[in-house]
Amino acid sequence: MSFDLEKDLQARRAQGLYRTRKTLEAPQGAEVKVDGKPYLAFCNNDYLGLASHPEVSAAMASATSEYGTGGGASHLVIGHSRAHHQLEEELAAFTGRERALLFSNGYMANLGVISALLGKEDAVFQDRLNHASLLDAGLLSGARFQRYLHNDVVNLEARLSRTDARRKLIVTDGVFSMDGDLAPLKELSELAHRHSAWLMVDDAHGFGALGAKGGGVAEHFSLNQDDLPVLVGTLGKAFGTAGAFVAGSEALIETLIQFARTYIYTTSMPPAVAEATRASLRILKEENWRREHLNKLIQFFRKECKQMGLKLMDSHSPIQPVIVGSADTAVAMSEALAAQGILVTAIRPPTVPKGTSRLRITFSAAHKQQHVEQLLDALERTVRPLQEEVA
Ligand SMILES: *Cc1c(COP(=O)(O)O)cnc(C)c1O
Repeated sequence: MSFDLEKDLQARRAQGLYRTRKTLEAPQGAEVKVDGKPYLAFCNNDYLGLASHPEVSAAMASATSEYGTGGGASHLVIGHSRAHHQLEEELAAFTGRERALLFSNGYMANLGVISALLGKEDAVFQDRLNHASLLDAGLLSGARFQRYLHNDVVNLEARLSRTDARRKLIVTDGVFSMDGDLAPLKELSELAHRHSAWLMVDDAHGFGALGAKGGGVAEHFSLNQDDLPVLVGTLGKAFGTAGAFVAGSEALIETLIQFARTYIYTTSMPPAVAEATRASLRILKEENWRREHLNKLIQFFRKECKQMGLKLMDSHSPIQPVIVGSADTAVAMSEALAAQGILVTAIRPPTVPKGTSRLRITFSAAHKQQHVEQLLDALERTVRPLQEEVA
């Protein structure tokens, strides 16, 4: 066969990088059923436990009888419903921006925004650990593309001062998806002002989990629309539904409606998903106990891990990676934990740099303290012996 797909698949297997899927047979939550077996899960991005919240589900069900199931057309034709419109207005108010615009998902939002804002005469500066969708978006835009060292403002400034591009866009994750640390947004915002650049933040993992009212890194660092003109959020994580949004100025949103191809040439999200998101936004803003409980679990986990001598990263977000080194070790640990009924994902290259394979542990307000204790017991039994073997 001319494509010889088997050869590449075999090579990937031989490298220990082969990816497979599990089948989830329960709603998302702390206790799940996977391939017929019960597990305690620490691997979803449902940080507030809203993906299976009864009020959110009820909002979706009742909206289905009002709006039916499908969006039926793109937003610019006849797919933009009252539900979408109201959600956009509520997201604008929530983020303190003039307007917000819905996209089908975060990947499309990022592709759409960067390629609508930039062209060949422009330059994009991305943190080297940015999410794949941001990196892909930078390449697609045709702008001059530079990756700066992770969270390194000095490295970025040197690059900014050398460019003669028309528009300069600095792009970063708010909370880094595989490391859990935060971007230094105050510094990045000042740098952007000094160099007449714009700052764009993808806060997929910050919304809901960070900020007193769940407003993510923008709220955490008190960054208004001037400081942070392009703010992207996803709805499939802490919001517990699906889709994404971009929040910013009137001119930014109108520009996206005119020029963002992933906005224009796609069907709107189901209106019932927008209604469900309106319900989850209310809960996300109002139920502070979810963030407080989540933070307690995170602090407890970190304290106990330190006592055990496990290698954590500088993260206070719900993403708590345990670095183990090789891809094989990470997979062996993840399998050993699964044998004890605990699901934790092994993250390997090319998602993370070589030699930094890790267990990516994520916490949710749906977890109880006792779940975290079970996780810690299993880690104690599993990770330390394996880690010492490797060292
Ligand atoms: C998950 C994620 C996305 C993609 O969002 P989807 O709505 O799942 O497509 C984009 N950026 C970051 C940082 C993410 O973690």
